[in-house]
Amino acid sequence: MPDSVTMDKIVALCKRRGFIFPSSEIYGGVGSTYDFGHYGVLLKTNVKNAWWRAMLEERDDIVALDSAILQHPRVWEASGHLAGFSDPMVDCKTCGHRFRADHLEEEKADLTCPRKPSKLAGQGPECELTEARDFNLMFKTQVGAVESTASVAYLRPETAQGIFINFKNVLQFARKKPPFGIAQVGKSFRNEITPGNFIFRTREFEQMEMEFFVPPDEVNDWYEHWKTERFNWYVRYGIRPDHLMMREHAADELSHYSSGTADVEYLFPIGWSELEGVANRGNFDLTQHTEFSGEKLEYFDGSTKERYTPHVIEPAAGADRATLAFLVDSYDEETLENGETRVVLRLHPQLAPITAAILPLVRKDGQPELAQEIREQLRGIVRTEYDEGGSVGKRYRRHDEIGTPWCITVDHESLSDRTVTVRERDSLEQSRVAIEELPGWFAQRLAQPWTSPKLASEPT
Ligand code: ATP
Repeated sequence: MPDSVTMDKIVALCKRRGFIFPSSEIYGGVGSTYDFGHYGVLLKTNVKNAWWRAMLEERDDIVALDSAILQHPRVWEASGHLAGFSDPMVDCKTCGHRFRADHLEEEKADLTCPRKPSKLAGQGPECELTEARDFNLMFKTQVGAVESTASVAYLRPETAQGIFINFKNVLQFARKKPPFGIAQVGKSFRNEITPGNFIFRTREFEQMEMEFFVPPDEVNDWYEHWKTERFNWYVRYGIRPDHLMMREHAADELSHYSSGTADVEYLFPIGWSELEGVANRGNFDLTQHTEFSGEKLEYFDGSTKERYTPHVIEPAAGADRATLAFLVDSYDEETLENGETRVVLRLHPQLAPITAAILPLVRKDGQPELAQEIREQLRGIVRTEYDEGGSVGKRYRRHDEIGTPWCITVDHESLSDRTVTVRERDSLEQSRVAIEELPGWFAQRLAQPWTSPKLASEPT
C-alpha cells in the first residue's frame, strides 16, 4: 500500500461518495458507530456473498445457519463469556494503567506510578485509582416487561455460540457427518473499551464465522487447510499478498482451550492488525454445552460404532473489517497527463458496488433512451447504474472513486451503428463493443480470474 493511503482519506472518500457515514450525525453523532449508505451496502453485501460462495457453493461440506442474536443466558455461562468478560477494573488517573480490582492484593500488583515524579530514588508515588468499574464486554438487556434475573439477556458477542447450540439440529437435518461445517453471517455486539479507527473496531459489527467439526485425529490437517483457504480468499478478491500475513499465536496468547490459533493480519494504515482468526478450538465448546445443557453433543458413526465429540476449527472473520481492508487495498491516486489527480478504487469486479455505469454522452437525441435499453438488456447479468448528470469526465471520475470497473458510453454513433465505448477503470483503455454483444462481453470478463493491477502510486 502506498504511504499516501491514510485512514483519513478512506473516511473522507466513504463519506463523499456515500459508502459510510458517521451515525446519528444530525444529533451530533455517537462515538464509533457508522451507517452504511447505498454503495457501502452493495460493497459489504458483495464481500459477504463472496464469503458465502466460498463456503456453500464452491464446496459441499458446509451448511448455513442464521441463529438468534438473543440467546438463553446459560449459553454465555457455558461459553465462558459471562465469567470471562466480567472483571472489575480500575484505572490509574495519571498513567492510565489498568488493573483488575479483585487481583490487586492477591497478585501484589506494583502500584508505583511511572508518570508521577518520584522524590526519592526507587520510591515512586502510588497510582491514584478510579472506582472499580465492570468491564463486561457483553451488552446486557432485558427480555419481557418484568425486570428480574430470569429476564436478563445479552446481545451475542460472537455468532459462533449460536452454531454450537444448534449442532444437534443440524446433524439431524443436514445429513452431514464430520468433517463438515456450519457457517453463519450476522451482527455481534461488544462494548469495546477502546473502539476506533473507523469501522476497524466498533461496538456493533458483522461477523462471518464458520465452525468446522472434524474427527479428533484429523484436526491438525484441517487447521492447516483452513489457514491456507482463508488467506487465499483475501488474495483472490484483490488484496495484495505482501499486505497480508499469517501470524501464529505464541503459546501464552492462546485461549486455555485452544491448541493453535493464527490470525490473518492485514497491513492497515494503523499497522499490521487482525483481519480474521483461525482457531483450533478442540472439543471445548461442544463439551461445555453438553455439560451445561445436559444434551449430548456428539457424533455417532454408524459404520464404526464409534461415538465421539468432534473437534472444531473456526475461521472467524469480520465483514466490516474485511470491507475496510478491501477499501484500503484498492485505493489509488494517479497523476494524469493534465496534472490532475485521479482517485480510483481498484476493487475486484465481483466486489465493486456497480459493475458498469451507463452514460449517455448528451441528454438528448435518443441517447438516454438507448442507454436505458442497454440497462434493461444487462439487468440480471451485471449491476449497472444509469448516470446522465454532468460532463462525461466528471461522471468517469465519480465512478472511478466508487470503483466501477467499466463505463459504457452511448454517443451519437451508437444510434446509427449500435456500438458503444467501454472504458476500463484501471488501464483507461477504451474499446468499441456492439450493444448486442455486451451481455457475453461482461459474462466472459467476470468469469476470468482477476489479479489486482499495479497501483499508480506504488513505487516501481
Ligand atoms: P481483536 O483482537 O481485534 O479485538 P478478536 O480476536 O477479539 O479481535 P474475534 O473474537 O476472533 O476477534 O472475532 C473475529 C473477527 O471479528 C475479528 O478478526 C474481526 O475481524 C471481527 N471483529 C471482532 N471484534 C470487532 C469489532 N469490535 N469491530 C469490528 N470487527 C470486529
